[in-house]
Formats: sequence, structure tokens, C-alpha cells
Amino acid sequence: MKKLVLASGNVGKLREFGQLLAPFDFEVLPQSAFNVPEADEPHVTFVENAIAKARHAARLTGLPALADDSGLCVSALGGAPGVFSARYAGEPKSDQRNNAKLVAELQGKADRRAHYVAVLVLMRHADDPQPIVTEGEWHGEIVDAPRGDGGFGYDPYFLVPELKLTVAELPHEEKNRRSHRGQALAQLLARLRSGA
Ligand code: IMP
Repeated sequence: MKKLVLASGNVGKLREFGQLLAPFDFEVLPQSAFNVPEADEPHVTFVENAIAKARHAARLTGLPALADDSGLCVSALGGAPGVFSARYAGEPKSDQRNNAKLVAELQGKADRRAHYVAVLVLMRHADDPQPIVTEGEWHGEIVDAPRGDGGFGYDPYFLVPELKLTVAELPHEEKNRRSHRGQALAQLLARLRSGA
């Protein structure tokens, strides 16, 4: 099996990517197994941050690397919180304070459109001139009152209009099928299947 380093310390992501990439002969290992410290994420676009994380992990391990970056973009806020989604309300990061800030910023605004974004980058080596880059989007609306207790982050406030449910009200299999991350991953697997 070919070793692939995941530029994340998230155990859930490691398990999910590990299962999905095993059929492609990849053994997915966390960057912590190689003592790779977290990369800086200095950029204002998801794709730049995902590339920076993948390159950092590939450079320090000498292995192919996979990175993801994701967040929420709200139309009436010019795409904010964007790459700052995890720490929208500052340090230490808190979903509760992020959501309170989001609702406050949208007070009195009629345009409630928002979308989640996820970017995945698979780099064969640190100087790969043509990494595989895929992107998923999930469109919805921000509501003022939370509903549901599934998911994480902004999910209780993110309404999927065609279902009339928030993401926090969806069973997790359904979230995975529809989500920005699910779509980006499906595209990545399709690219691998086509021999990219
Ligand atoms: P990360 O890319 O996993 O670090 O996620 C960045 C941040 O974006 C998270 O901390 C959340 O605030 C937000 N986010 C990304 N994906 C989701 C999602 O599926 N549901 C809710 N919030 C999300």
C-alpha cells in the first residue's frame, strides 16, 4: 500500500479518508505520526490554505499528502466568515460564540443566502506542479433560531431550503451525501478512478 499523509489531526477525518482511500491502495496516516506541526494558514482563500497545508505535510514527510479546508460563506457578509469560520468570534474557538456573532451580523438583513465550501488537495510530492484540487459547495440560508442537535459548527443555523430542515436536523448519512465535504470527496475519488 502507498502511504499518504493527512494534513490534519482530526481523528474523524482520518478514519473517513482512510476507509474511502483504501480501495485505491492508499494507507492514510496522520501528520502527527511524523511529528509534523500544524501548518500556518495565512491565506484568505480555502484553496490556498489547503495547498499550503498539503505542501507542508508533503515536504516534512517526503510522502504524498492530502489536505482539506472548509468553512461558511454568507452572501450578505461578502463571503464572511470564510476561511475564518472556525474562529469567527475570536480565540478560543467556540461554535456557540461564532453562531451568536453570525446571527447578530445578519440582524435586519433580508438576504439570508449562505453556502458551505470544502476544498481538497492531493499532492503527490511537495513540488507537485499539478496537485488534484476538488471543491464542493452546499447552498442554504441562515436562520435566527437554532434547530436540531446533530452536526457541528454552524449546522443548527444552516437551513436546507428544499428539505425545510437545518443541517443539524439531518441524519449524518444524509449530511455526508449532500455536504460540501461529501461532494469534494466524491470528485476526488472520481479523479483517482479515472487514473489522475
Ligand atoms: P475545518 O476545515 O474542518 O477546520 O472547518 C473550518 C470551520 O468551518 C469549522 O470549524 C466550522 O466552523 C466551519 N464548518 C466547516 N464545515 C462545516 C460543517 O459541515 N458544518 C458546520 N460548520 C462547518
